[in-house]
Amino acid sequence: VMASMAHLQEEKLRLQEEVVGLQEKLTARENDELSHSLQLQGQVETLKAKLLEQAQEISRLRSELGCTDAEKHRDLLAAENERLRQEMKACEGELRELRRRQQQQAPCQDCAHLQENTELQERLSQLQREAEETRAKLAELDLEVQQKTNRLAEVELRLKDSLAERAEEEERLSRRLRDSQETIASLKSQPQQIKYIIKTVEVESAKAKQALCESQSRNQYLQEQVGMQRQVLKEMEQQLQSSQKTAAQLRAQIMMYEAELERAHGQMLEEMQAMEEEKNRAIEEAFSRAQVEMKAVHENLAGVRTNLLTLQPALRTLTHDYNSLKRQVRDFPLLLQETLRSARAEISQAIEEVHNTNRELLRKYRRELQLRKKCHNELVRLKGNIRVFGRVRPIMKEDGEGPEAANVVTFDAEDDAVLHLLHKGKQVSFELDKVFPPQASQEEVFQEVQALVTSCIDGYNVCIFAYGQTGAGKTYTMEGTAANPGINQRALQLLFSEVRGKAADWEYAISVSAAEIYNEALRDLLGKEPQEKLEIKLCPDGSGQLYVPGLTEFSVQSVEDINKVFEFGHVNRATECTNLNEHSSRSHALLIVTVRGLDRSTGLRTTGKLNLVDLAGSERVGRSGAEGSRLREAQHINKSLSALGDVIYALRSRQGHVPFRNSKLTYLLQDSLSGDSKTLMMVQVSPAEKNTSETLCSLKFAERVRSVELGPVSRKAELASWPSQEQLEGLTPGLCPVSPQGDSPGTSAPPGRGHASPSPGQLSSRAASIRRKLQTTG
Ligand code: ADP
Ligand code: MG
Repeated sequence: VMASMAHLQEEKLRLQEEVVGLQEKLTARENDELSHSLQLQGQVETLKAKLLEQAQEISRLRSELGCTDAEKHRDLLAAENERLRQEMKACEGELRELRRRQQQQAPCQDCAHLQENTELQERLSQLQREAEETRAKLAELDLEVQQKTNRLAEVELRLKDSLAERAEEEERLSRRLRDSQETIASLKSQPQQIKYIIKTVEVESAKAKQALCESQSRNQYLQEQVGMQRQVLKEMEQQLQSSQKTAAQLRAQIMMYEAELERAHGQMLEEMQAMEEEKNRAIEEAFSRAQVEMKAVHENLAGVRTNLLTLQPALRTLTHDYNSLKRQVRDFPLLLQETLRSARAEISQAIEEVHNTNRELLRKYRRELQLRKKCHNELVRLKGNIRVFGRVRPIMKEDGEGPEAANVVTFDAEDDAVLHLLHKGKQVSFELDKVFPPQASQEEVFQEVQALVTSCIDGYNVCIFAYGQTGAGKTYTMEGTAANPGINQRALQLLFSEVRGKAADWEYAISVSAAEIYNEALRDLLGKEPQEKLEIKLCPDGSGQLYVPGLTEFSVQSVEDINKVFEFGHVNRATECTNLNEHSSRSHALLIVTVRGLDRSTGLRTTGKLNLVDLAGSERVGRSGAEGSRLREAQHINKSLSALGDVIYALRSRQGHVPFRNSKLTYLLQDSLSGDSKTLMMVQVSPAEKNTSETLCSLKFAERVRSVELGPVSRKAELASWPSQEQLEGLTPGLCPVSPQGDSPGTSAPPGRGHASPSPGQLSSRAASIRRKLQTTG
């Protein structure tokens, strides 16, 4: 239907266009007609002018004509005029008839053609009026001619009268002349008498002679006048003749013009006819085309109708469908509500279930967490709460050249806990919990301490010490370089990421403090007054905990924060001494990280402390050479380091008394060293030959704090009866027989390893056996 409608629209547009084209043609034709009629009008105008001229000529001639011939001519002309008038009337009649027919044929009222026709008619009527006027003028002129002819007749009459008079006079005069001549003759016959008579005659003759003369002159004059009149007459006749000729010519011309007028009229009529026909033809053509198109449109319409008829059933089914859908839609809210209700119930049930499962899972998770913590602790315990690592720095340019800079430290390819030192031509072997060779990276080192750091999050206190002579790499291990940071920064980074990972259940706050112990004086490196000495005090709450009043604590949330804190600490430390390197090697630097946690679900609070200590140089100052402050420093360092060694020794050997109070350092770290705390001693050594004796001392220190392990007895029961240091020193490998049992994963000191030095190796084997026992008993 739409397509056929569109087709019809198109057809309609095309027809409209055609109609416009036809209208344009029509207007063009009308314009042509107009120009033609204008042309004809011009011709009529010229003819009229000629007619006027002729009329003037006629009038002129009439005025000139004064004789009967002219009259005759005038009559002729009048007759001719009348005939012409008649013809014109006939023409007008014809024209009127034509117009009438035209009006009948062309009923179009608004047609420009008609308008033009009326205009033309008006013009024609005007022309007729003018012709009428001209005719009236002609009549007037006729009247004038009549008057003039009358006057001419009068003049002629008078002329006749005068001629008659003259003839009479002549007669009279000729009679008198005859009488006179008779008288004369009679007188001659009577001479006397004649004398007398002559006398009388003479007398009379004088009188007669005078009269004669008079009459003769008069005659002469009259004759002249007659001649003149004759001449005039002749001239007039000539003029009449010429005017007649002209009139004939004019008549011929008039005829010609009339013929032309007629022809033009005929032409005009013909053209009008032709145009009329053309117009009719065009209209007919358009009509026939419109009819054809109409037919096509009708056909289309019929097609559309049939289409509509076929559409009706479809519409019916659609309506039916629509109604059913409407019903459904009406019912839908109810259905929806019902469904929603059931869905809601289901969802709430599901939620309940999920909730329950969640609770169950949470419970299991907590249990698992506790188990994990326990296992972790067990692992750490198995590894030893106090562990001793060794790290050997690479040979450097600063070590110089030659035999002094020769490498005296070698490693065991099989065992990463053993290193050999070439001392006085002999190889001395040491076994620690782990040994890092010079090529070990900061990352590798950190991987080994990672577990300690994370246990801090679980609420354990951790101490990591860097021990060794100045230049052995303590600061490198703890602080590292900007490009390759050490344990300090890596530990904090790890804490941040771990805390983030647990953020769903736990809320953590990490804060840092930095302090320095120099000559047994504790100073705050982050404080406003770094010079101020701080005191270590017991918590007033009676918990037995220690704290340092006035020690600045910065809360940190990102690596940027810690970098700022470190920088601040460095700046503080640098401003307080003239030679930082010298000073730093003479003092202990502490970074204390506190991790406070809150379990959101249980409200359980934990606090873990990570103490990162860069110890003062362990080198022995020549007792004889050192004096004054240098000696005092050395004494303080020695005292604090050996106190640390003692404390660790005491802890590791589970002595009842641990001499924490022997140094500021151990006293400060008391909480972090005792109990469940974990301690790592990183013993730094130089591999250079010139440092052999210091290296030996450091390694001996390492071995000493490590050599004492927990005995094969239950901790709590045995606590009071632990052997003293002296007893420990007397411990021999024979006391604890080596168990040949297999290795367990995670223990850093597996049994059955070959060692160059018997004592530490045997001790280690013993430690392993103790660990195994712990595992079974624990
Ligand atoms: P300490 O703090 O014990 O006095 P440093 O940490 O200052 O010693 O180390 C002394 C020099 O040796 C420093 O230039 C340091 O960069 C370098 N150094 C120490 N250990 C290593 C190592 N494992 N790898 C590379 N260079 C090291
Ligand atoms: Mg240092």
